Amino acid sequence: MQCSVDGCERDIIVARGLCGKHYQRWRLKGSPTAYSAHDPNEIRTEGDVAFVVLRDVEGTAVGEVIVDRPDLSLVESYKWYRMKGRYAYYAASRTGSRKRLILMHRIILGDDQSAEVDHRNRNGLDNRRANLRWATRSQNAQNTPGLANTSSRFKGVSWNKNAQKWKASIFVGPKCKHIGYFSAEEDAALAYNKEVHLIQGEFAYLNEVR
Ligand SMILES: [Zn+2]
Repeated sequence: MQCSVDGCERDIIVARGLCGKHYQRWRLKGSPTAYSAHDPNEIRTEGDVAFVVLRDVEGTAVGEVIVDRPDLSLVESYKWYRMKGRYAYYAASRTGSRKRLILMHRIILGDDQSAEVDHRNRNGLDNRRANLRWATRSQNAQNTPGLANTSSRFKGVSWNKNAQKWKASIFVGPKCKHIGYFSAEEDAALAYNKEVHLIQGEFAYLNEVR
């Protein structure tokens, strides 16, 4: 006789027509098919990508991680849950007897503890390779908005009282480099964007100017 739960192939019945695992779940949670933190993540595929469903301890879906379909083989042997990081949510798991924390984006790029991984679109649950790149700590820090205590809402822009204009400037190492004065705050922000992109390349934080 087989366990009466759909899809379960165990044939050693403990009680109530259920295998040991499903009988225990019925006793603990009231239903043989109740969610358990040990259940594997559901995975659905769509074309070239796959979505890994993340659930909280109660079993409520709290998010999905998107990965390139070929990378499923790297991640599907772990149980993934959602972890709140400093800037975003990430997919995390625990592994080994010491329950070491691992992050899905590191598993995908190869587990190099010495470097940080940057999510280009800042969605920590978008682990497609096109969205991941290695970053040094300082590069990651550059990819954040500017200080709040300037007189402009844009990074690299401040109001210059003497000139009665918006001033764009940028720190190159310890030195502040003057970019120019502008009547329009947005023009100063755009000038900063151009300069910071020249200096810092693709890791630069760019002002959003409409
Ligand atoms: Zn069963």
